[in-house]
Amino acid sequence: MYQSAGSAHASAETIAGLDAWRSLSPQQQPAYEDAAELEAARQSLGAQPPLIFAGEADRLKDRIAAASRGEAFVLAGGDCAESFSGATADKIRRRVQTVLQMAAVLTYGGSLPVVKIGRMAGQFAKPRSSDLETREGVTLPSFRGDIVNSHEFTPEARRNDPQRMLTAYNVSASTLNLIRAFTTGGFADLRLVHDWNRGFLTANEGYQRYEATAAEIDRALRFMEACGADFEALNSVEFFAAHEALLLEYERALTRIDSRTGDPYDVSGHFLWIGERTRQLDSAHVDFLSRVRNPIGVKLGPTATADDALALAERLDPDAEPGRLTFITRMGAGVIRERLPQLLQGIGDRLPHVTWVCDPMHGNTITSSSGYKTRRFEDIMAEVSGFFEAHYDAGTVPGGLHIELTGDDVTEILGGGAQIDEAGLEERYETLVDPRLNHDQALEMAFQVAEYVSA
Ligand code: PEP
Ligand code: MN
Repeated sequence: MYQSAGSAHASAETIAGLDAWRSLSPQQQPAYEDAAELEAARQSLGAQPPLIFAGEADRLKDRIAAASRGEAFVLAGGDCAESFSGATADKIRRRVQTVLQMAAVLTYGGSLPVVKIGRMAGQFAKPRSSDLETREGVTLPSFRGDIVNSHEFTPEARRNDPQRMLTAYNVSASTLNLIRAFTTGGFADLRLVHDWNRGFLTANEGYQRYEATAAEIDRALRFMEACGADFEALNSVEFFAAHEALLLEYERALTRIDSRTGDPYDVSGHFLWIGERTRQLDSAHVDFLSRVRNPIGVKLGPTATADDALALAERLDPDAEPGRLTFITRMGAGVIRERLPQLLQGIGDRLPHVTWVCDPMHGNTITSSSGYKTRRFEDIMAEVSGFFEAHYDAGTVPGGLHIELTGDDVTEILGGGAQIDEAGLEERYETLVDPRLNHDQALEMAFQVAEYVSA
């Protein structure tokens, strides 16, 4: 706990509450063999400086509150699972660049500020459907993300290693350092970002239908310039970090008491979310995140009822604080037009302070005939349009998008302007867990959404 003389203190009850999850049979946690090793990792994580500051988390809460009112739009994107080896300067830069490029298009399309969030600097832990994986008669622990074990299918690699939490912390720190440098060092200049978007459009015939939007953005930029807009002042953008708060030892060890208020904040990331598999009202994950003051999210899949959503809101956001709670719906293109309207209708006008975000990825995962875990671009876009329509019909606010993307030229998702087909998947299928939109597919999504919201 970092507390200095004269600063606000947390009560003993508040501190003890941060460990209440331990007695709630937490799901999706790795079994660590060596208690002393775990304790050592916990101690050294607890002594590390915070990765983010409570005041930054509060600022993000304000931005998300604006999105709940339709005065901003949230864009969260990044890998399904970050990897330690993938935390290179080039890959991080390309991911930040992709989010900035999408944000520029969406800002224009919606005439709204875009709240930029990376699924980055902490997105290392993955929920798995089974504790064990069997291949050709050999059974080993499942891969739970680089923060727990390694992807390679050997007993050594699959051992759950608490020391990996320290590595995750260090990789997160260097990732955040780069993000902060890129987003404040001129790299975010709107004119530069627009030039990148222009390059994307001319490189591929499949994208020429977006020329008209790009030409309008050109005109808007020239107009701003003619009016004397200070582009230098727009050089710096806010960029926040988010991940699923899945591995509770890690999240607990990185929770600190804010010296301004005496309130606990999880300083491993600005925004933390609870996954579809761990969102039960009495779950360890819901208990833990109910006790920190960051802005938080909960994934809601096709089985979520209005009563579930209302009870989660009561538990996680009893004060109905604007920006505190985001529901991230992930229904699936086949059912969203039925399930989301039902959910919104069941809730009625009882959660006006909650922000609604669309995750069009996780309800649309399929296996290709060649055996790849993939998604169809068309299904993803069908879920996005179903999301906007459901909110427009219900009179609620479509507050943002949460997607899995990379800045790299991978081939993991079918379709899009470059028409990746089943045979094409094997060219550059690099993801450790779920398939991601590649750079061009991510931008294509932004142009389609921009056409959609400005129509
Ligand atoms: C994820 O966001 O990678 C994820 C596992 O999603 P969900 O909890 O919605 O399944
Ligand atoms: Mn995923």
